[in-house]
Amino acid sequence: SEDGKWVRAALKRALTVLESKEDELGRLDAAAGDGDHGAGMVRGLTAAVEAAVADEPGEALMQAGTAFADAAGGASGAIYGVLLVALGKRLAASGRVDPPQFVQGLRDAIEAIQQLGKAQPGDKTLLDALVPFVEALEEGVRGGQDLRSAWRQALPVAEEAARATAGLVARKGRSSRLGARGLGHPDPGAVSLTYILRAVEPALP
Ligand code: ADP
Ligand code: MG
Ligand code: MG
Repeated sequence: SEDGKWVRAALKRALTVLESKEDELGRLDAAAGDGDHGAGMVRGLTAAVEAAVADEPGEALMQAGTAFADAAGGASGAIYGVLLVALGKRLAASGRVDPPQFVQGLRDAIEAIQQLGKAQPGDKTLLDALVPFVEALEEGVRGGQDLRSAWRQALPVAEEAARATAGLVARKGRSSRLGARGLGHPDPGAVSLTYILRAVEPALP
């Protein structure tokens, strides 16, 4: 079946963009953490593309998540692992990929990320971009937009939110050790998430 093809296509698009941003993300993470964020994301996405072979999209996302976590390591490895697995589980359970199911899958992903990492919005993590993105996406979908239109409309919300993390003091992850010295730098995970969200849009169902 062709159904699962969009998952691999989306992961490939994300990988291409993050390869081009690897150094920038490394520098951002060096200012706040250990400098490995760009490299970890590229490793994770490379493995995810390889692993996501199932025809069924939910299955393919779960394969991608497990491979991502193993290959990327670190905080973001674990976080994208649970994100992809939670989204995949929801889509596999619903048996079809419609916009409301997709939104629900991302809500599940937020819950799984919070359960794993105990971060709240405002703690200067990728949740600070993901949560407002999903809210904006849901609003568009509720208003009857197709997934890609709602997604495009939600992208600037995520991008503005990622920029705004520069004004936050990190309370979770390695960068929390910096305290107020992290002010002025955006969270690398929030920034890389916006690159991924923009990269995958043309591949979405
Ligand atoms: P590590 O910090 O283990 O080296 P990365 O550099 O790959 O991992 O990823 C760092 C990013 O992970 C941060 O910028 C932040 O967005 C995200 N992050 C760290 N801890 C958490 C957490 N508890 N919850 C959500 N996201 C987190
Ligand atoms: Mg790091
Ligand atoms: Mg690390």
